Amino acid sequence: MIYLDNYLDVVNAEEIKAIKQLGKRLSGRTVQHINSTAVGGGVAEILKRLVPLMQEVGIKARWNVLSGSENFFQVTKVFHNAFHGLPVKIIPEMMTTYQEELKLNFRLVNPGADFIILHDQQPLGLAEARRNNHLARWVWYCHIDPTGVSREVWDFLRPYAQRCDAAIYHLPDYAKKLGNREYFMPPAIDPLAEKNREVSAEEKAFILEQLEIPTDLPLIVQVSRFDRLKDPLGVVKTFRLIRKEIPCRLILAGGMADDDPEGTQIIYEVQQEVGNDPGIHLLVLPPVSDLAINVIQRVATVIIQKSVQEGFGLTVSEALWKARPVVATPVGGIKLQVLPEKTGLLARTNEEMAAAVVRLLRNPGFAEQLGKAGHEHVRQNFILPIYLKRWLEVLNAELF
Ligand code: UDP
Repeated sequence: MIYLDNYLDVVNAEEIKAIKQLGKRLSGRTVQHINSTAVGGGVAEILKRLVPLMQEVGIKARWNVLSGSENFFQVTKVFHNAFHGLPVKIIPEMMTTYQEELKLNFRLVNPGADFIILHDQQPLGLAEARRNNHLARWVWYCHIDPTGVSREVWDFLRPYAQRCDAAIYHLPDYAKKLGNREYFMPPAIDPLAEKNREVSAEEKAFILEQLEIPTDLPLIVQVSRFDRLKDPLGVVKTFRLIRKEIPCRLILAGGMADDDPEGTQIIYEVQQEVGNDPGIHLLVLPPVSDLAINVIQRVATVIIQKSVQEGFGLTVSEALWKARPVVATPVGGIKLQVLPEKTGLLARTNEEMAAAVVRLLRNPGFAEQLGKAGHEHVRQNFILPIYLKRWLEVLNAELF
């Protein structure tokens, strides 16, 4: 079990004291988080660590996960893609499936809760279950970039978001101006979690052997769900450009989330592209592979994040926390994390990204400097105690 005081190595004592103080006013209040998956993806990652710390400061924090059929998650994935501006075909049956399956989940809503937090669009329709006499504050936490959402999908979902008292977005640019209160809160990583803690040389060696990764050449790494928006095919093409200049290996590692039915198809497409290229290590990881991901990120010579769109991009914070040099696309929350030439490099196309990686491989001193600055940037802004403090400020503000 990890307690707040365990973070005294990474944040100062004043910060921890302020957190405990903010928690006092909320003591005994019930905060119910509802999302759509217990494992895989950024939201599950955040809640796993946030909920126990909220409990430590005295809040009755609860976390419930929607249950839904394959059909439901296919619909919410289409909505997800529509949020990211991908061309999708919407048919009326999708709306019916969404509403009917969420109705079956109404029982999840805790009638005694003081706060109900609906994470992303999958549980948003639960706002329909809000009764007039329900005193709770309802909050929609939008973890993705909603700026390019298709008209059709937003017209359908907006009324649910408007039934909430407030909305939280990662960035001010994402605000949807719903007429309710707005907060801006980028997420965070937990430096003490299995995925981010220091690892011993023995642990590193053990994992590398298990995953059959040689360390004879520089390692270029991307860790992400197999999703088109993470551009895995672009990663392979970029790597092949880099390898023309400098011998190296690619580790493309990721798994699938329970709420994402597209992963299998994407993995198939990537396998076709990779063929039997011995320089590419395509790792399809089981749902909980935290230590393996930690090691893969720590042994990377350069970490890339070739996202087409990104709500925030926790994998970038994870990489920077490990003081690794990062090259990423300037999308969504990545722009907050990778300050060009200071905490990493930004690049859009395959060619630009390959050139930036080659630049770092040829300048290890500069790469190290970026990594160190990146670590400090994450320490100050994107780690769990700081995030918890922001949460407590929001909840306190909502109590009036
Ligand atoms: N992740 C994981 N296993 C995987 C792929 C990703 O545990 O196979 C984790 C990753 O380390 C990060 C989170 O899932 O903590 C992904 O969050 P991010 O914000 O980068 O992207 P999302 O998946 O939410 O779009």
